[in-house]
Amino acid sequence: MRDVVIIGSGCAGLTAAIYAARANLKPLVIRGLEAGGQLTLTTLVENFPGFPQGVQGPELIDLMHKQAAAFGAEFTEGDVTRADLSKRPFTLELESEKIETRTLIIASGASARLLGLDSERKLLGHGVSTCATCDGYFFRGKEVAVVGGGDTAAEDALFLTRYANQVMVVHRRDQLRASKIMQDRLFRNSKIRFAWNSTVLQIQDPSRGEVTGVALRDVKSGEERFEPLAGVFIGIGHSPNTAVFRGQIDVNENGYIITHDGSKTSVKGVFAAGDVQDHLYRQAVTAAGSGCMAAMDAEKFLEAEGG
Ligand code: NDP
Repeated sequence: MRDVVIIGSGCAGLTAAIYAARANLKPLVIRGLEAGGQLTLTTLVENFPGFPQGVQGPELIDLMHKQAAAFGAEFTEGDVTRADLSKRPFTLELESEKIETRTLIIASGASARLLGLDSERKLLGHGVSTCATCDGYFFRGKEVAVVGGGDTAAEDALFLTRYANQVMVVHRRDQLRASKIMQDRLFRNSKIRFAWNSTVLQIQDPSRGEVTGVALRDVKSGEERFEPLAGVFIGIGHSPNTAVFRGQIDVNENGYIITHDGSKTSVKGVFAAGDVQDHLYRQAVTAAGSGCMAAMDAEKFLEAEGG
């Protein structure tokens, strides 16, 4: 029986682990399929306080992991396939183990969203990617598209110019959602062009098992056109990883866990931190802050319950 189990090993989960471990609660951190979370998919993080020169996302996560382990946090690998939050202790099932815990911190984050096209699913990993930093290297000297108009798409497009000859940003409106500084960088980069007011109709060519181009539709004129290219990066935002808790805990209309009074959820003894409960800020530093809150809330809860 555990006092504290933390689902997720991103910024929120690891910060919760640091705080819970320093409170002598010997937290167990479950590292899922996307261990380390979204920071492991980024490059330079320029806005995490304390790093005036910036810090690489994977390095920041690695440092947090070491810090948590140094204070006695334990780690296990695997995705949670079932969770029973109906009674305490809560039970979690991983593929190869069953875990019981008095308190639970859900920091399972959010995963990249897809467009929902058949061709996209078929070509995922074969020219279609949700991770520019993971796959950009494969597109040296080629032309690629990035779908989306937010900071993810902007960051991906800028990163891809390191490898690709040309990067086409496909956005469904004529204005980017990305922050001003990112927009300025995009507009200044001669390798980046824009397909404004455009949606992806289809990605070609699933029958060849590789990307040969995209069919786009101009949402204003209805015109359709084909753009030949070698890769498509989907950067249209994220969905919270809450499927395993559905029906057991209150979530909003987009599936994000609803928290109140800090990190408390609708289930006593279950706390949530990071992107799984935050659709607004979604920053490394806010995720870390909420991880800290969840650990402190779990500690208080255990104290009140008599350990
Ligand atoms: P956002 O929700 O901000 O942006 C998603 C983008 O994808 C929007 O431009 C949206 O279009 C578009 N989009 C959504 N669904 C579709 C669809 N089905 N088809 C076509 N286009 C679609 O998500 P991000 O992941 O970009 O950013 C999330 C948060 O993370 C933000 O707060 C951002 O600032 C932050 N972030 C910060 C970074 C940094 O500081 N370096 C890096 C990455 C993210 P529309 O604009 O029309 O809604």
